[in-house]
Amino acid sequence: MSADLLTYQEAAALVAEHAARLRNIPPAIERVDLLAAAGRVLASPLYADQDQPPFARSTRDGFACRAREASTHAMLPVAGSIRAGQPPPGPLPPGAAWEIMTGAPIPDGADAVMMVEHVEASACGVRLHAPRKLEAGENVVARGAQARAGDELLAPGVLITAGQIALAASCGKSALDVFARPRVAILSTGDELVPIDCEPGPGQIRNSSSPMLAAMVAAGGGGPWILPIAADSDAALDAAIHQAVTADLLLITGGVSAGKYDLVEPALARAGAHFHCTGVRIQPGKPLVFAEIPKHKRAAHWEADKRPLPVFGLPGNPISSAVTFLLFASPVLDALSGRVHLGPRFALARLSAAPDRRPKAGLTRFLPAFCTFGSHPESLPEVALVSWQGSGDLAALARANCFLVLPDDASQALDAGTTVRILLS
Ligand code: AMP
Ligand code: MG
Repeated sequence: MSADLLTYQEAAALVAEHAARLRNIPPAIERVDLLAAAGRVLASPLYADQDQPPFARSTRDGFACRAREASTHAMLPVAGSIRAGQPPPGPLPPGAAWEIMTGAPIPDGADAVMMVEHVEASACGVRLHAPRKLEAGENVVARGAQARAGDELLAPGVLITAGQIALAASCGKSALDVFARPRVAILSTGDELVPIDCEPGPGQIRNSSSPMLAAMVAAGGGGPWILPIAADSDAALDAAIHQAVTADLLLITGGVSAGKYDLVEPALARAGAHFHCTGVRIQPGKPLVFAEIPKHKRAAHWEADKRPLPVFGLPGNPISSAVTFLLFASPVLDALSGRVHLGPRFALARLSAAPDRRPKAGLTRFLPAFCTFGSHPESLPEVALVSWQGSGDLAALARANCFLVLPDDASQALDAGTTVRILLS
């Protein structure tokens, strides 16, 4: 194995360092309707427009009272009734209770709520079941307990999902500032490739990696831009890279191995690229290229840009492309999207069966696997390899929902029950 290959950790650290640098140039900002904001990245802080909750409210159906009085188990006459949506009533007379519904404001003078299930009710009033006691504040959320008016509730860089949308709605935001999606050029290369809607001739295959990567880019917050397939020729690659130079990120598949028609690296060099990495000790994905076309080289093609163009040369086999995208391209995509979270997502799982592949010394392996999440409350998720016939096996990829990480230590035993790492896809 060539000595200039980086280990997985070295390559990951190098990509993280470049991704952090790209984050210093914030993306453009656009405003979108709240309902269209799911999956986007927040660009401006979200501030509380009022105290949250805006009034002290009950979290239970029951009886508002003074905790100290209720804890004596005296019968407390019911002085009134309040439903959600009504203004705060009161004051609560001494030695009395006030019927209250979940979400309703607490009457002035009350400091707790007895749950309806915990009281004995009669025509004379309500009494807390002995020997229960009630603490001040029980079943009540104080005004401003979650946030004070003007507090920053969300910082820029947060991925917007259902929880953030609910919070923004509670602050009266019907639109949000989000970062513009980075435009990610996807260039598949290879003389054997034909577009999806073509019948492949002898020796040809359909281009499956471009749509796969487009889906991964879209899921990662980017805007995919699929370029026409480039043939394995200097002229075709030069023209395609020239076209792609207006993108924010360029993903090239194929043509980075050591074969006679693997022409991507020289084409990138002709475009003025600086190479950060030209191989990683991983399987699949060893020939990975990570490079950058500097801004002055981009400017020759396109006036408007102020930053270098990161470029990944992903090995052509679709599983290699998928793994190297997750490991290395997705942190850069996160940075270009303005997301604060950078990096691939790993988790621990328990092997449900001994894998039929062994770790290899000096090589970190990422093998298609299926993980069953949440199978048992007390144990880790269970993971097993899916059967596969190498990095071109698309059916295996489609059956998988993660990749099992085999460490680069060949002596490591991987029996059923072993705790292992998985790369989430
Ligand atoms: P390469 O990295 O160019 O040597 O390609 C490795 C293998 O992946 C070859 O069998 C290619 O035919 C296959 N391959 C390359 N690009 C694609 C693609 N876009 N879609 C499907 N298979 C591909
Ligand atoms: Mg090829």
